[in-house]
Amino acid sequence: MDTCKACNTKVFFTSDFSDVCLCKNCANQIKLSSWKDRNFASMEELVNTKNNILSIISSNPNMTKIKKSVEDYFNDYIDSGFITSLDGKAGQKLTIFNDHCIITTKNEIKRDELINRFDEYIDHDLDDEDDDDEIKAISNIGRLGKNLLRGNIVTTGISMVAESMINEKQKERKEEKAYELSRRKAKGLISLGDRTLNLKDYSKVETYYAANKLYGYVQFIPKGKKSTDMFDCDYFFYSPGVFGHNINIKKKIEQLKNTLNKMISTLPSKTEDDVKEVKEEDSHKKNTNDNFIEIRKYKELLDEGIITEEEFNKKKKELLNL
Ligand SMILES: [Zn+2]
Repeated sequence: MDTCKACNTKVFFTSDFSDVCLCKNCANQIKLSSWKDRNFASMEELVNTKNNILSIISSNPNMTKIKKSVEDYFNDYIDSGFITSLDGKAGQKLTIFNDHCIITTKNEIKRDELINRFDEYIDHDLDDEDDDDEIKAISNIGRLGKNLLRGNIVTTGISMVAESMINEKQKERKEEKAYELSRRKAKGLISLGDRTLNLKDYSKVETYYAANKLYGYVQFIPKGKKSTDMFDCDYFFYSPGVFGHNINIKKKIEQLKNTLNKMISTLPSKTEDDVKEVKEEDSHKKNTNDNFIEIRKYKELLDEGIITEEEFNKKKKELLNL
């Protein structure tokens, strides 16, 4: 039998949070089930919930015993910056903190699957010059045929066959090459395990889902890039269900997009300050170096007897800011 930490009643069945044991009645009073182990839509909602629960606690004398535990519980959440997490049902989990996200890809099989699916979204660039040996060979046969049978009706037939063979081969090769290239790039984007995205590096988040595709995605667009720069962006994949009818996950994804865009737009633009800091640091270093050179010069003057020991020490103090 356990004892309720708030009202000291002995109970068989308890509702717990952290290491606090509560009877059903006390748990209900502080609406435990509404906040325990919950994902919050935003930091604002988390803080509001904390304040709300604390005000219930302070209006009930029994509850003051657990006030500190409740505070700690919420503060742990707030300190970590954790906001929410979502399993996309496509082998990836997205965890959102107040200034970064972690995309976790669970295993190699799921990752390969996502790389294949990502390929369906890519416009392959087939304009690369192709100097494939096999194509050259066919092309030469075509030319040879043309030269040998010039003037003959057969010529046209052979060279036409050769030409269509070349075109077919060329197309195949280009497609293969583009496919390989995009797979290699996609492999870099969809990394196994945790991938951390610092939200200050991104300008916007967009979502995409096509009914004829198995997976949709949340696209993180870096500053200075567009959504069409597919390989420069980062992705979180989700599955809207077998028939594309999982409204619930699509709704959640849209909410996440709004949360993320709101967070991105309100994040302090650190970059300017960072640059300034680095510059200040550099100029400080430069000044210090200049001062050392100056001191050496004065030391030379001292050694040569041009200035006195006293004058040198005075100058040295000045330059070292002593
Ligand atoms: Zn109780």
